[in-house]
Amino acid sequence: SGERLRLPPWLKTEIPVGKNFSKIKGSLRSHKLHTVCEEARCPNIGECWGGGKHETATATIMVLGDTCTRACRFCSVKTSRAPPPPDPHEPINTAVAVCEWNLDYVVLTSVDRDDIPDGGAAHFAETVREIKKMKPEMLVECLTPDFRGNLECVETIVESGLNVFAHNIETVEALQRSVRDPRANYKQSMSVLEHAKKFRPDVLTKTSLMVGLGERDDEVVKVMEDLRAIGVDCLTVGQYMQPTKRHLYVKEYVTPEKFRHWEELGKKMGFLYTASGPLVRSSYKAGQYIGHVMS
Ligand code: SF4
Ligand code: SF4
Repeated sequence: SGERLRLPPWLKTEIPVGKNFSKIKGSLRSHKLHTVCEEARCPNIGECWGGGKHETATATIMVLGDTCTRACRFCSVKTSRAPPPPDPHEPINTAVAVCEWNLDYVVLTSVDRDDIPDGGAAHFAETVREIKKMKPEMLVECLTPDFRGNLECVETIVESGLNVFAHNIETVEALQRSVRDPRANYKQSMSVLEHAKKFRPDVLTKTSLMVGLGERDDEVVKVMEDLRAIGVDCLTVGQYMQPTKRHLYVKEYVTPEKFRHWEELGKKMGFLYTASGPLVRSSYKAGQYIGHVMS
């Protein structure tokens, strides 16, 4: 409920398109793959896919289908109690496609598949292994569901050979119930991130926070402290944008100054990197940031 806020000038951007763009687009079609970049009409697509001259190209691929068993109030992905079964050829097809593109960094993500016993963990892991077999130097991040807190699923993924394990905390503790599906919660997401780091300390962990949902500043500071306390390495902070009229309203357009403040605080608190800005998304230029951290 509430009023629709007017879009501030810093969010009115054009989508620039790089050379790599059409190549990736063509290949996506032929391999029947979905990228979050396209589906979510992400405004960073030019920057992420293009990679520029000396930059690193990143793309986010959705595995396990386009239909989620959950329904978070900020997310426009389709929902069903029984989505179609995963495509067993998807891991190899994804690897072939991803290796064709000029990518240095790939993010594999998925909807929540509460209908599959392992939540799709083995499928994720197989996809990572296929990519690493074909192109060992490619950096791979998995941005995963919470697996209903099943930590064996987390282990399956963290052992797959990936470089970065990501799971999004999404919002401050007090807003979890009104923003995320009731099957998700703060403690469960924290335990997933904590276990990934404990199980394989050499794998980087990463999470993402949306702001503009009505959270208070002290609540944001608290999430950041909680994340550092369990060893989360990387943090992104971005503006929540209402995907359709039926979704949660934006409560506030957080100013670029405020985003810079969170970025500086993140640095002080010891995150290896904090990417914070109105258009920052979980995977925003991840290749560049992670590449820098790892070198
Ligand atoms: Fe794709 Fe993420 Fe970059 Fe957006 S921020 S273009 S979703 S990789
Ligand atoms: Fe969207 Fe993920 Fe929530 Fe599913 S679990 S509705 S994909 S945010």
